[in-house]
Formats: sequence, C-alpha cells, structure tokens
Amino acid sequence: MSEAMLTPFPFIKVALPVPMRTLFDYRVPKAIALRHSLQPGMRVKVPFGKSSRLGVIVALSEHSDWDPEQVKPLTAMLDERPVITEELMALCEWAARYYHHPIGDVIFHALPVLLRKGEQAEFRTEHWWFATPEGKALPLEQLNRAPRQQDFLKAVQQHPNGLSQQAASVLDLAPTAGKSLEEKGLLHREPRSFHKGGEMHAHKTQVPHTLNAEQTHATHHLLEARDHFNVTLLDGVTGSGKTEVFLQVMSRLIKEEKQILVMVPEIGLTPQTLKRFEVRFNTEIVLMHSNMSDRERLDAWLLAASGHAKIIIGTRSAAFIPAPNLGLIVIDEEHDTSYKQHEGFRYHARDLAIKRAQALNIPVLLASATPSFESLTNALQKKFAWLKLRERAGNSHIPVMERIDLRGKHLLHGFSEHALTSIKQCLERKEQVLIFLNRRGYAPTLMCHQCGWIAACDHCDVNLTVHKRANKLHCHHCDTQKALLHTCPECQSTELFTVGEGTEQVETQLATVFKDVPILRIDRDSTQRKSAMAKLTQKIHEHDQAILIGTQMLAKGHHFPNVTLVVIMDADAGLFSSDFRGMERTAQLITQVAGRAGRAQKSGHVLLQTYHPDHAAIECLCTLGYEHFAIEGLAERKALSLPPFFHQVIVRAESTNEQEAMQLLSAMRNDLEPLFSKDVYLVGPYAAIIVRKAGQHRALISLKCAQRAPLHHATQLMSDWLEQSTRQHRIRFAIDVDPLET
Ligand code: ADP
Ligand code: ZN
Ligand code: ZN
Repeated sequence: MSEAMLTPFPFIKVALPVPMRTLFDYRVPKAIALRHSLQPGMRVKVPFGKSSRLGVIVALSEHSDWDPEQVKPLTAMLDERPVITEELMALCEWAARYYHHPIGDVIFHALPVLLRKGEQAEFRTEHWWFATPEGKALPLEQLNRAPRQQDFLKAVQQHPNGLSQQAASVLDLAPTAGKSLEEKGLLHREPRSFHKGGEMHAHKTQVPHTLNAEQTHATHHLLEARDHFNVTLLDGVTGSGKTEVFLQVMSRLIKEEKQILVMVPEIGLTPQTLKRFEVRFNTEIVLMHSNMSDRERLDAWLLAASGHAKIIIGTRSAAFIPAPNLGLIVIDEEHDTSYKQHEGFRYHARDLAIKRAQALNIPVLLASATPSFESLTNALQKKFAWLKLRERAGNSHIPVMERIDLRGKHLLHGFSEHALTSIKQCLERKEQVLIFLNRRGYAPTLMCHQCGWIAACDHCDVNLTVHKRANKLHCHHCDTQKALLHTCPECQSTELFTVGEGTEQVETQLATVFKDVPILRIDRDSTQRKSAMAKLTQKIHEHDQAILIGTQMLAKGHHFPNVTLVVIMDADAGLFSSDFRGMERTAQLITQVAGRAGRAQKSGHVLLQTYHPDHAAIECLCTLGYEHFAIEGLAERKALSLPPFFHQVIVRAESTNEQEAMQLLSAMRNDLEPLFSKDVYLVGPYAAIIVRKAGQHRALISLKCAQRAPLHHATQLMSDWLEQSTRQHRIRFAIDVDPLET
C-alpha cells in the first residue's frame, strides 16, 4: 500500500519566500502525518534545491500535478497551530492576486521576523523574583553592609506579586545581588511566560471630554454602525477632536470585549500618542512598529494573537497582525503615504485594512484633517460615510493663514522681514515658533566658485547634501556618505560654497539672531537615536519660549500647546512637481504643519513664504481651506483621466546596464499591447525622473484604465512575461498597483 492511501491529504502546497509566483508541492511522510494534524498556515521545513527552507502550508491536497514519485517529502513541522490564521491566509491570497506579488513573499511579510526565521510562536519566559517567608520577614537593616542586596530585597518586598527580571533591570538592581539573596534563601525565582506576567498598563486617570455637537454626532454614527462592515471618513480639521471621537468609540468596543487595531503613520507614533491611549484605558495595549526589536515585535504579535491585547497600535505592517476578536480598525492620518510600501511587496495598508474589515464584517474608521483624494472620492460617491468636524475642540481656534510675497524682498537667512518680526514678537510673548522647512542637512548643494563643479553622488543622478555638523556629504537617495570636501577635486580651488538651505543651516543662523532662546531641530538626523524624539519633545514642553525647526516629521500628530506661530519657509516646494500628486502632497503638508499652531487656548498664526502668492492652489488653500482645494483638484484629475478616476499600474525595471531596462520594457510592450483591452492606456517606457539610483538605471511603463478588470488582466500578462524574460537577464522588475509615486 502506498503512503498516499494512508491520509486523505498526502500532499501540501507550500509558500516559500522566493520571487516566484507559485506554490510548491511536497509530500507528507507517514510518520509526520501520524503525529501531527496538518493545517494551512503552519510552518514546515522543506528541501528546496540543494538547501532546506522554511515554508508555510497554504493548502492540503489529495494529489499533485507533478509525478508523485518526484515530489519531495517535507522534513519537519514547526507548529502545532497555524501561525497564519484562515482569515489572514485569505487576506494574503487576495493581496498576492491584487498586487501581482509572489504569494510566498506576501505570507512571509505577514509574519514577524522571528517567525520567518523559525522561532517558536511562543512567549519568551522570563524569571520573576519573589520573597520567601524569611525574605518577607527580614528587617532591611540587617543588610546594611550589603547595600546592593538591600536595594534588591527592598524592591522585591515592595512587589508582593513578584518583580520581573525586566523590571529589576529597569530599576538598576544588580543581578548578582539577586543571586546572593537566593542563595541565602531570602528570594526565589519562578519562570513565567511573558504575557501572564505582563504588568497591565493600568494608568487610567483621564476622564473623557464632554463632546461638542459635531463630535457627538460622529460618535453616535460610529457606534450605531459598529456591528457590520462600513467605512467612515472622519474628516476633521487639525485639533477638531478626531482622536477624542475614536477613543470614545473604542471604549465602548472594549467593554464588548473587542480588539481594536489603530494604525498610525510610520513616524507619527509619538510617545504622546501612546500616552493618550494609556491614560484612557485599563487594558493591555501593544505597539507594533519598526523601532522595536524582533523579540518585542513577536511578543506584541503573540499578545494580539492570543486576544489578550485589546488595543494594537501599529504602523503599516500591523495590517497583518492576527487578532481573533477584532472589532474595529482605525486608520489615523489616512492620507499618509507611509501606509504604502514603496519597495518589494508594494501594498497599501489602508486598502488592505478595508479589505480585511470587509471579510470580517467590521467597521473601518479613516481619520484625517487632509483626506487623500482617493478617500474623498469614495466619500463623494457615498461608498464611505463622510463625517466632518469643522470646528476645533475645546476653546481653541483655527489658525489664520497669511501669505508673504517674497518677490523683490530682502531676505535674511531665508526669512522675510515680516517673518522675522513676527518670530521676535511671538518669543516676546513667551510663546513658541515652529519653522517648517522640508529639507534636512545644512545645504542641498556644494559647489566650486572657480570651476562650477558640483558634489554629486557616484551612484545616483543627484547632488550630495552637505551635513556640516557631521562633517559629511550625504546622498539622501542611496545613503552614500563621504567626508565633507574642502578643496575642489576638479581644480583644487578651496573656494567651495553651499547653495540653498536645510534645517541645520537655519538652526545655526537663527542662533545668531535669537541668542538666548532655545532652538530645537527635529528631523531625521536629530532624532536618529531611539529616545531622541522623546527628549526633544520633553524639552519643548519645559520651555515657554522656543524655536522649533523641522521637516515633515513635525507635521505629524504632535501637540505643542505653546506654539502660536508657524512659519512655512518655502511654500512653493512641490508646487511645480512633475508628479500629478505634487499639489495634493503640498497642500496636505502645509495644512498639517499649519495645524500645529494655536492648538490650545492661545490663537495661532501661520505665515507662508512664497514667490507665487497668486497661484490658484495656494490661494484656494489659504482662503477657502483644504476641502475646497481638494474638490477643485479632483475636478482637474477627472478632466485629465488621472487617479482616482482612472486606475493605474506602473511596471518598473532597473538594471546596471544603461539601456537594458528600457529595452526590456519596449520588448514587453511590443509583445503584449495587441493582447490588451482597448480600454487600457499605455504610456512609456520612459526613464525615471532620477534615472540612476544606487547604480541602477531605471525605466517604467504606466498603464491606466477606468475599470479594474482589463487592467488586472493586462498586469497578469505583463507579470508572466516579465517572469519568463528576466530569468536570463540581470534585470529587476516590480509591479506597482495603485502607485503613489511616478
Ligand atoms: P485631532 O485628533 O482632530 O487633531 P484631538 O482629539 O487631538 O484632535 O483634540 C485636540 C485637543 O482638544 C486635545 O488636546 C483634546 O484633548 C482636546 N479636546 C478634544 N475634544 C474635546 C472636547 N470635546 N472638549 C474639550 N477639549 C477637547
Ligand atoms: Zn573647482
Ligand atoms: Zn546616491
């Protein structure tokens, strides 16, 4: 009797983290079939080529399309329970189809890194310290001669429910002292699994605000719609109390034992955000973001998967976190482009979350002061409910926006006289100024006065940014760094000068004007270290008057109650971008930054420095606000057959060879265009705006269509064609469905 007869499913289809859009068949050996009950979503070890790989079972199967004798057996089972639940498996399969991305890569993306590497899906165990009866009774004076043991015992005595190893190290207690006390019989240790010991974040101290009329309406709407799938766009000006609305909705769902996933932008998760949740809920809150260690992420994942964590706050990849009682997904700052992954598996976490909620029949809440054109369109077409909050909550008011015409004006360090006077007055009132310049570093260009040489990246078609403090030239595209030059490599002249300004330069120069005022710079360079951002925000709260200078990092989610003036140094950046989304992004950024002004009782003022004060978009934004701006922008998109009215797919190819990528895409177009539906519009291939990046020459081809189906079909043809054709070449390609960059 062959093995195949022993089990109903002698074969499994396995997803492997390889760039092939297919599943792989393996045989289940009898010994394994007898000992384990195999299910989709479990990890297995399988032979692959000459090596062994970790894979995830996607399906059990009665037969294989391959010659059964050729199908290799799996070698080990890693899980007793699926690590990818049925629900998430369906989501991954949908995403692989929709984004035309290899299923194995999608599934592996959905897993925490440690599970991808074969770690057990179990909580780490941790040692907890307890006092023995003798230890409890011992008067601390008896340890006067061993102060470290005394500290240790004292801390454990103060924690009758045990002191975790982690807490002991946070309290700076010496591990050797603990061991000595254990040897004396005063303490004992017990291993506990991480989650059981997890101290509950019982900080609840804050009572909810009494909601205003708009907030009440929104809350009622959301509560009424909480038991089925629907999407609500909570479109509220900055400071209108959107967060307050979803905190109150969440508190009801938590009473109903539901879990809630709150998604936040990549760098929007500030200590302040977390604090706001912690002071409101007596429940386990876990975080999931890129600044955590792999182990921390796995623990958070396990807490969510066990249903123990009621609130999960995470960035993009949290869209895949398992949560058996999920009852609501909130996507804060839904317009933020960090929800879209820009390399590899190019999914959009908002769209994925909506798909997931639909399958689970639960609601989604999208919140933003500057909704994306995509979401606004859905709201206008009544696919999303559209709730507006147009007043600021509490006693604060919407800031006044004022344009400063820079034409013909004398500037000092990049500021008009009016801006400098306003900054001075603001500081004199003991208030804070926020200066926005979306360019980090000292200057974007280093140039030679004698011969005109410009410092450029060796690997990209861009100039190197000058970072004076770090004494470096830095490529912001490929991360290449060099020592700052002081002589021209072309003509040996020492007359090198910088052109343009970045945040570092503004910081240096303002320090010469406002000598006794604290100046704090907030950008990617100043916040590299883990706790740097927390320290900076603390400093900001410590001082009355201060100047904050920052890039778009400052635009997100921060609440600086004493900021009353915002100066946007260069409102024109992005105005004439070749990307049709340039204006949308500029308007979002300006509105978000402006929204940092006057968040508390004091009213706010925003100054926009511009050479184009009459530009229709800038004028509309300043006088009528974001919603008007967006409605006009959407009309233009419609007239030009652009997204969101047309769907778009971009195929990107790159190669070290100058011509290859372009040639490949041309060949593809020639072969496939006759097979595409006539409704699909093709543009390209054309070279990327920055052609060479990190040594790769980049070309793209764009497809547009009013309907999804013909576009999907065309994309499938391209994906198959490319997979065949790129096997022999060293060309990398990527399919970008609903791209956010061109
Ligand atoms: P948003 O999320 O729209 O930016 P927040 O929810 O952060 O707005 O609210 C802005 C500020 O107003 C916060 O300090 C918040 O505590 C406060 N706030 C919100 N709702 C109310 C209310 N109904 N009454 C008083 N203050 C409120
Ligand atoms: Zn020179
Ligand atoms: Zn570079």
